[in-house]
Amino acid sequence: MKKRILLVEDDPFLIDIYTTKLKEEGFLIDVATTGEECLKKIKEEKFNLLILDIVLPEIDGWEILERLKKEKEDQDLKVLILSNLGQKEEIERGLSLGANKYLVKAHHTPSEIVEKIKEMLK
Ligand SMILES: [Mg+2]
Repeated sequence: MKKRILLVEDDPFLIDIYTTKLKEEGFLIDVATTGEECLKKIKEEKFNLLILDIVLPEIDGWEILERLKKEKEDQDLKVLILSNLGQKEEIERGLSLGANKYLVKAHHTPSEIVEKIKEMLK
């Protein structure tokens, strides 16, 4: 069974990079470009991993995490925060809101991030 990933990202360049790379690795990728779209998709479909940006229009990643607590438990959904926000407090906040992992975009190449995603879904 192919693992399903929902990428929540509003930067078209990053969407392009990660959908291409993750498809090459054999994952099924769906994209949400807003928080609303993300919450809708999670309610309607089942995913193995959510890759979550924090800075998004309207509903941001923090609020998505708050609202997804129940689904996360019910569906065994893993969450990887992939954000430009890299302050210690921000990382701690993400993990305390239930993210399994927090990666700062600027600290890793896309290929490194894909490797970490593969590890999370092993
Ligand atoms: Mg963003």
